[in-house]
Amino acid sequence: MALEPELLKSLSSKPVTLVYPFERPEVPKGLRGELKWDPERCVGCGICVRDCPAFALEFVGEKEEAELIWHAERCIFCAQCAESCPRDAIELTQEFELSTTNYSTLTIRFARPKK
Ligand code: SF4
Ligand code: SF4
Repeated sequence: MALEPELLKSLSSKPVTLVYPFERPEVPKGLRGELKWDPERCVGCGICVRDCPAFALEFVGEKEEAELIWHAERCIFCAQCAESCPRDAIELTQEFELSTTNYSTLTIRFARPKK
């Protein structure tokens, strides 16, 4: 039985798998990872909270003083919050290593710098 050319090619090529975490993958452009909030840009309009389909965002406090809470365990990384924000105050970064054994660390309260 003759071996298929594709099979022969695969047998002689390097595996595509990486020995993670010792070998780091190249993060693809546009990956939607950890949420970052810029309190300097935020005006506390609440549009991000309203538009989040997963109820993963919450505001505590009033208007410009309000602080954002991100419930990462609910987040589906759709980036709707970043899309909706009129002030570009939310960004989904390339940080993807968010797994944890401590559930409480998945609720992240972003503090405003004291003035
Ligand atoms: S990325 Fe999507 S699910 Fe996550 S906080 Fe933003 S709007 Fe909500
Ligand atoms: S939509 Fe943007 S400006 Fe409005 S509350 Fe959210 S982060 Fe702040």
